[in-house]
Amino acid sequence: MTPAAEYRPNPVRQALRSALISVVPRTRLIASLPPGDRVVALTFDDGPHPEWTPRILDVLARHGARATFFVVGAQAALHPDIVRRIAAEGHAVGHHSWTHSEPATTPTRLLLAENRRTRQFLEALLDRPAPLFRPPHGKLTPLKLLGAWAQGNVLVLWNRDPKDYQMPSATELRTWVSRQPLLAGDIVLLHDTHAHTAAALPHLLDSCAVPFTALNA
Ligand SMILES: [Zn+2]
Repeated sequence: MTPAAEYRPNPVRQALRSALISVVPRTRLIASLPPGDRVVALTFDDGPHPEWTPRILDVLARHGARATFFVVGAQAALHPDIVRRIAAEGHAVGHHSWTHSEPATTPTRLLLAENRRTRQFLEALLDRPAPLFRPPHGKLTPLKLLGAWAQGNVLVLWNRDPKDYQMPSATELRTWVSRQPLLAGDIVLLHDTHAHTAAALPHLLDSCAVPFTALNA
């Protein structure tokens, strides 16, 4: 599940991403929040994890913070009680494919079928719409993007990425947030599959006076 080299910045892709974000309405694509909203959105990908997701939920509850969890369908099917708990505690639940398939190499039909399967699973489990979609590695080809939109999904990217999946311990994540404080409007990419992300979360939440919110479709 660990994201790999695909996260390396590619100038052309970055430019296309910026252009796309500037022209596509927020009902279809969200990459940050209006700073005037005075909130920060933490997002946790790749779970639910049987140990670290509950730990993260405990921390969020203690701080009165809300977040958004982009779950992998196969993991959600293994741990449905954790997904129910995420929703019951006021967090948003979005989908992140069924198997964390690689968008660059997975055929469009298969990728869209994974989207549909995961979204339907979540909607049946939670009895609520689950249109928020984050593609694995945040990447889609134009055809897959159009397909995901045709399915009625809202694509959610991010504007802050500490690369917690590459960090060896909580210290690096605490240092990252101390050096580059979170700001109103940020959407932060995190992963609820790492012990150190859970361990650093109290510091991250304490570092910012702006409320932490769950994303809305
Ligand atoms: Zn992922």
